[in-house]
Amino acid sequence: MKPAITILLALAVFFFGAGGADAGEIPYGEFKRLLKQGKIEEVVIGPETIHGYMKGSGTEATRRFETVRVGDPDLISDLQASGTMYSGSRGSAWGSIPGWMISLGIILLIWFILSRRSSSDRGLMGFGKSKAKLYTQEYPKVSFSEVAGLEEATEELKEIVEFLKAPQRFQLLGGRLPKGVILVGSPGTGKTLLARAVAGEAGVPFFSATGSDFVEMYVGVGASRVRDLFRQAREMTPCLIFIDELDALGKARSSHPMGDHQEREQTLNQLLSEMDGFDPKQGLIVMAATNRPEILDQALLRPGRFDVNILVDRPDVRGREAILEIHSKKIKMADDVNLKVLASRTIGMVGADLGNLVNQAALLAARKNKQAVDMADFEEAIDRVQTGTQKKKWVISKKERRMVAYHELGHAITATCLPHADPVHKVTIIPRSTGSLGHTLQLPAEDRYLMTKSELIDRMTILLGGRAAEELVFGEHSTGAHNDLDMASTIARKMITEYGMSRVQGPIAFEKDQRSIFLDSGGGTLKTYSQETAREIDDEIKQLIWEAYEKAKSLLTEKRAALDRIVRILLEKEILEGDELKRLLEIYDSPLHGVRMLSESIPPETVSPEIIPQKANLT
Ligand code: ADP
Ligand code: MG
Ligand code: ZN
Repeated sequence: MKPAITILLALAVFFFGAGGADAGEIPYGEFKRLLKQGKIEEVVIGPETIHGYMKGSGTEATRRFETVRVGDPDLISDLQASGTMYSGSRGSAWGSIPGWMISLGIILLIWFILSRRSSSDRGLMGFGKSKAKLYTQEYPKVSFSEVAGLEEATEELKEIVEFLKAPQRFQLLGGRLPKGVILVGSPGTGKTLLARAVAGEAGVPFFSATGSDFVEMYVGVGASRVRDLFRQAREMTPCLIFIDELDALGKARSSHPMGDHQEREQTLNQLLSEMDGFDPKQGLIVMAATNRPEILDQALLRPGRFDVNILVDRPDVRGREAILEIHSKKIKMADDVNLKVLASRTIGMVGADLGNLVNQAALLAARKNKQAVDMADFEEAIDRVQTGTQKKKWVISKKERRMVAYHELGHAITATCLPHADPVHKVTIIPRSTGSLGHTLQLPAEDRYLMTKSELIDRMTILLGGRAAEELVFGEHSTGAHNDLDMASTIARKMITEYGMSRVQGPIAFEKDQRSIFLDSGGGTLKTYSQETAREIDDEIKQLIWEAYEKAKSLLTEKRAALDRIVRILLEKEILEGDELKRLLEIYDSPLHGVRMLSESIPPETVSPEIIPQKANLT
């Protein structure tokens, strides 16, 4: 509304000002006197006023005068006598309307136009319309070649591209058609870029919306926007809908019966029903991005909705080099720039940070009037970008990195060597936005529904392996292991109190799970034993944990030489795949030596693995 106010003010000043500040107005008597003295050059006689120019040397503006006409019968004869040029003026219809009335009319007119415009795009009429932007073919296309360091994600998305290019062909093949794809990853890792690349590669229109576009105060508005978006998209198939920051609209519905989140729930329900409702044969794909998958409503992730889950990871050192290469194509670089070195100096940075880095370096070079961006500019830019990201805690010291590497390998090596452990998928020391500085990912070789006692003990040993490695190498512990300790203690407690695996107490379950099956929170466990038993249970839990910890420590002591060597490799590469780790262990050590015998002496007993997530993620 600001420009409108300015226009109104300007108009008001113009009209009122023009009326009030008529500098050249003179009394009629004065006019007659000047006329008689022969000082008037010419006049125009209107029905109510007379105006004209005096003789003299000034500019037209200063010589101009005006006077109110009086019923004067001698006027014409006096004009003729003095030889002044004169003419008459009819006086327009405007002339008879006072100036303030004209300006008021114009103001009203402008106000009317402005208020009509705003009501059509913001008013009640357009309230339920989707705010999604539509990018069609004219919009600059993005292709996969502009995305680097995300090979796995790109590979998976190529299938979606194939589908969008020829939905009919997939229809012939039968098979399940993709509907919803969710990209999960930290901010700036390239999720939006990937979604645009999918649309660009497939050559289809791209509807882009943000979760918060659908969040409004009034019940029903968000839902109607969702409906509108899908209606528009169905008319343009094959096409792609992209919902960025899905978490803003897809937060888990509260289990509170009196929740005041009616609006959000309606919006989410509408999205769910739209996702269920459309026929994938039409060639419509819904993509979404989030960096907080854990708060999403589980219903969104069910089959037939966002069931394809793609991880958009922070880039490793090679990925960072590739991203730097893409972004540095846009600038002129000096020969001394070594992208490999830059990649190794930018640990923890994501694609957006690296793009920003190249930009900063170019700006610095331009400020110094250089012909090309050289290494010194990049070094300075790294410092600048890092002070920006330092707040995000991505920049960690050398000593901390070493400690993290030992900790993670402590998990990974114990996991590789223990016979009842799930295979290690990968180990990384790339920090994540959740605050963890590294993690080890184990994937079960097959689906598991039961776990034996020896498997549980191995799991505890792996969990404690991180802390054991820290103690072994540095002689002290960091605070980084508290999550591991938490999980290990939970396993130990459940073994004794719920699974009846106690050596002292025997097969008795002491605690009954009272949690509701339908709600994730609330409830608790019911204790059914005496104080004395409680003490015994605590002692046994302690013993279990200590045994596991000692086992991890002795295992790592045995592998110490290999550990030290592999840490150096991990520090350099930042990521080790499970196979690589296994191979390295074979090279530096003979694996599985002695350990198998130790744990196989414990007879397997089976328990439910519900405390064990399908994917074990150790930090
Ligand atoms: P996100 O949506 O995950 O927050 P964006 O896709 O918006 O991240 O990334 C912002 C910018 O950072 C992109 O436009 C691009 O210039 C750069 N960028 C991010 N990731 C990559 C990548 N993997 N390869 C190349 N450039 C990237
Ligand atoms: Mg984004
Ligand atoms: Zn850990």
